[in-house]
Amino acid sequence: MDVTTNQISVEKTKNTKINDVDFNNLSFGSIYMDHMLVCDYKNGAWEAPKVVPYQPISLDPSAKIFHYGQSIFEGMKAYKDEQDTIWMFRPLDNHKRLNLSAKRLAIPEIPENYFMEGLKALLKTDSDWIPQSPGSSLYIRPFIFATGLGFHASPADEYKFVICGAPSGSYFSGEVKVLIEETYSRSANGGVGFAKAGGNYAGQFYPTKLAQDKGYQQVIWTDDNTHEYIEEAGAMNVFVRINDTLLTCPTSDRILDGITRKSILKIAEDEGIKTEVRKIKVQELVDAAKDGSLKEMFGAGTAAVISPIAGFGFRDNDYMLPTNLENSYATLLKDRITSIQYNKAEDKFGWRFKV
Ligand code: PMP
Repeated sequence: MDVTTNQISVEKTKNTKINDVDFNNLSFGSIYMDHMLVCDYKNGAWEAPKVVPYQPISLDPSAKIFHYGQSIFEGMKAYKDEQDTIWMFRPLDNHKRLNLSAKRLAIPEIPENYFMEGLKALLKTDSDWIPQSPGSSLYIRPFIFATGLGFHASPADEYKFVICGAPSGSYFSGEVKVLIEETYSRSANGGVGFAKAGGNYAGQFYPTKLAQDKGYQQVIWTDDNTHEYIEEAGAMNVFVRINDTLLTCPTSDRILDGITRKSILKIAEDEGIKTEVRKIKVQELVDAAKDGSLKEMFGAGTAAVISPIAGFGFRDNDYMLPTNLENSYATLLKDRITSIQYNKAEDKFGWRFKV
């Protein structure tokens, strides 16, 4: 079945919360807009998506999400320009990745048309919730989880697809120092690291808490086999600048194929920056930090866009990166990607999507 935006039923809330929101002072992902999209999978098919007031979801205690963690999600943003036009950034890539995650977690894939038309219907209903203040946007969270019942360890027969949105400001405030993690792993070969599965994040919280107790804000994950190569920065892809070359590691079944990462690589090439996609040894970072050739490190992801890393801890040493670097790649690349996202620059790669 195909749906059009107009065929998606919209039940409007009678109690809007929008007047309680200070749109000039937004934190990240903690206030939710008035409506959400819901779509149920029953009897082997996805039912028609509908927009309903934002509300709690009631589940039976035997729902398989509670026991076997069949849960996947996406993170994307909507932006409103000065003409009140709503834009998104490469949303079809989020849809494709959601379905990659679905396949790996034995969850039924959501048709592109349901995802995109559902998203548009929701954003049209709650367009007043998309902030316009500088640096803010609507963070959008599509997710699918198992509602089907049973203690039998097997895939559920029923699922719910939901999209909610949170008007948001910046993700990190202050300096980010990271700890290179050598004991715990985020993911393993043949595992689910490439999927946005809820459990991947649950597994990160404890090692991240240990790093935070030592004064770091985030963890740099290394490969599970040797712990010699860096892989991701918290829930972001990681970039390193050595002299004038921008490096990031190749994606694999352990690493999420980030949309920000691949966009940054394209923009960097377009800027004439030398890029290399290859494995990066922790020792190479330590050596480069010691001889001064390590100029920058940053995380890249939808939530923070680009998050500069001030320094890293490895074993018992801290290695700090240059501050006030002139012409930093992080600033240049963040400016370029956000000006495309906010419709302030030419979209030469065709990434912008008008809602
Ligand atoms: N790695 C992980 C583990 C993530 O959760 C995210 C956030 N989705 C990213 C990388 C960055 O991906 P994207 O640029 O598509 O947001």
